[in-house]
Amino acid sequence: MTEANTQPEVNIGLVGHVDHGKTTLVQALSGSWTDQHSEEMKRGISIRLGYADATFRRCPGVDEPECYTVDEECEDGSASEPVRTVSFVDAPGHETLMATMLSGASIMDGAVLVVSATEDVPQAQTEEHLMALDLIGIENIVIAQNKVDLVDRDRAVDNYQQIQEFVEGTVAEDAPIVPVSAQQEVNLDLLIDAVESEIPTPERDPDESARMYAARSFDINRPGATAEDLKGGVVGGSLVRGELSVGDGLEIRPGREVEEGGQTEWRPLETSVRSLQAGSHDVETARPGGLLGVGTGLDPSLTKGDALAGQVAGEPGTLPPTREEFEMKVDLLDRVVGKEDDESGESDIEEISTGEPLMLTVGTATTVGAVTSARDGECEVSLKRPVCAEEGAQIAINRRVGARWRLIGVGTLA
Ligand code: GDP
Ligand code: MG
Repeated sequence: MTEANTQPEVNIGLVGHVDHGKTTLVQALSGSWTDQHSEEMKRGISIRLGYADATFRRCPGVDEPECYTVDEECEDGSASEPVRTVSFVDAPGHETLMATMLSGASIMDGAVLVVSATEDVPQAQTEEHLMALDLIGIENIVIAQNKVDLVDRDRAVDNYQQIQEFVEGTVAEDAPIVPVSAQQEVNLDLLIDAVESEIPTPERDPDESARMYAARSFDINRPGATAEDLKGGVVGGSLVRGELSVGDGLEIRPGREVEEGGQTEWRPLETSVRSLQAGSHDVETARPGGLLGVGTGLDPSLTKGDALAGQVAGEPGTLPPTREEFEMKVDLLDRVVGKEDDESGESDIEEISTGEPLMLTVGTATTVGAVTSARDGECEVSLKRPVCAEEGAQIAINRRVGARWRLIGVGTLA
């Protein structure tokens, strides 16, 4: 297989209600299990975030969609050819945070919405995630109607119609709905065919300056490593534009908090790229798509325990400013979506008011902000932890409703 075809080139979010089969589907398509947590993984780059790469392949001489497979061997014994490697983002067990992630992070190029045929449509997170896709404008969507092995034909047709009605008037209105069984591996060829036509790899400009959103960071040294064996800190995340090569300079913002003369301030970190890992391969140059591990020259104590999660990295001098407060234009949802039947609390969304705390997701950063002033359609927030973000950045806005933070709208940094 050529390296070009096995480097993931597009990020696809796996969204949908808990237990509808997202992780099983990713496993069927990629042969890896995103719910796995192993210490071993940490030493390379972890899939704890739930990134799993899948290489779609085709059997020569067979028509679409039957030609598509993830197996290296075709039914007639011939070898399949790689077509494209995609990276699925499946936040394991974090269905409630997925809406936040969807709206705040610009790392997803498309989405597969998984809907179980065994339950009425929509379930809480089915609605919440579709709303988030709608808000952020992720338009390349495929709907997988999963678990069709568990229902009879009438029920499957009925459920299919419920899905159609549910997506009417939303961003997913024209999305293909593909009946599948992730567990029995039924119709995966049809699903791959739909992803190939609906979720193309975006055009990217390799000359743009590199921009990476850090989702994790760690110290890969074993306790007691000697000074000369000590490896620099590792930052894991997604490159959203440009290219990054071994040897490139790297700035990370907001960086670290330093205290001087009773004052604290955030100072950017500067280092260089010492190694790059894309998927599970060491590479010299990395492009957007999938999860990237960047070995740096930073003191590993700075990257330990996800200390740099939520920060932004790129070519020195090209990053957006660090903001401890900002003003945003606000678009609120019409009502709270994704509420479970037994949850209490208002369904109408009231205007944002001065003094209230909001949970904001900007890129991969999630931070709590206090509203310092609020007007119609606009507000100013003061952040507990600063973020690095540019004008026009999209922000997921969450408010505490009942027992948990709910997505109430999206902001645009003014
Ligand atoms: P997630 O919460 O959306 O990631 O759902 P999981 O992938 O963890 O699946 C939840 C449960 O449904 C597991 O017990 C799976 O084995 C089962 N499951 C997933 N897909 C299918 C399917 O297509 N058919 C059947 N019968 N069970 C499935
Ligand atoms: Mg799961």
